[in-house]
Amino acid sequence: MLRCDVCNSKPAQIYQRHTGLKLCLTCFRSSIVERATQELYKYVDRNERLLLAVSGGKDSLTMLDVLSSIHPVSKLVALTILEDIVGYDRSSEIEEVRKLCREHGVEHIVVSMKKYLGYSVTEFMEAQRMLKVRSPISACTFCGIARRRIVNSIARELGVDKVVTAHVLDDELQTYLINILRGDIVRLLQSHPLSTVHSSMIVKKVKPLRKVYEYETAIYAFFRGFRFQDIECPYISQRPTLRARLRPMLQELESRYPGFCLRLLEHLDRILEPLVREQNEKVRELPRCTLCGEPTAPGRKICKYCELVELIRKALASSTL
Ligand SMILES: [Zn+2]
Ligand SMILES: [Zn+2]
Repeated sequence: MLRCDVCNSKPAQIYQRHTGLKLCLTCFRSSIVERATQELYKYVDRNERLLLAVSGGKDSLTMLDVLSSIHPVSKLVALTILEDIVGYDRSSEIEEVRKLCREHGVEHIVVSMKKYLGYSVTEFMEAQRMLKVRSPISACTFCGIARRRIVNSIARELGVDKVVTAHVLDDELQTYLINILRGDIVRLLQSHPLSTVHSSMIVKKVKPLRKVYEYETAIYAFFRGFRFQDIECPYISQRPTLRARLRPMLQELESRYPGFCLRLLEHLDRILEPLVREQNEKVRELPRCTLCGEPTAPGRKICKYCELVELIRKALASSTL
């Protein structure tokens, strides 16, 4: 029997690629819990109320499971958003979140995008098709903007202290690189964990899994027995995004140089830190959208969300003529 490299007693079951360690299940779980604990409490106090954004995917189920063991469960609320995409049934994923919340005693809220905002992802895509928009905005862009809006509004309604998302190391590194490649300094600095929110209406986000690899949450979810559906979102196969192109490149580098992605993320964190601190000092309250009153980017009158919703309204108006 091959023994675990850490405890040297239990059988090793997992090869942790980026450290080169062979681990037993207990030590593997501990290594994830340790990183999540360290990351969470850099930005969160033990008595703070947290809203967890839980989609039902492997990363978010892992986050929910891990956080339930490190933060008081009475201070946690899990939120699942239904995108209302026609042909994309998420009921089994939601059931899985519900089950895990019950198991840990965490409150769980499910919100429908259509009911909460008045519009679904499908309606947005239909609107663009009807208006024959020349370079349509992707479903993922609309979905992301709509979801962030719901999460932030509910966080405010509930009066929680922070929002917690399940972004893993791979997501975080891709986001850094995308913003570097696009020269988007504002977003680059905003994606740094130390960046402060620029509006009293935005609830600060924390990402406790940002030092945990996606392959680790996959292993975690597998051994924990989480069930997933195999239906993909029908909008996923549209033109590959920069993120989708970066993913295999980074995976290739990671397999050639184990730990590459973690080191690069940590280097970028360090390089950006003084710039982020400087930026935090200069923070001014963001302007408010003249239509909905939510914060918007400097120099904008109408927020991105209202701009997109305007498309749906236009399509609806033209279809009833
Ligand atoms: Zn062990
Ligand atoms: Zn607006």
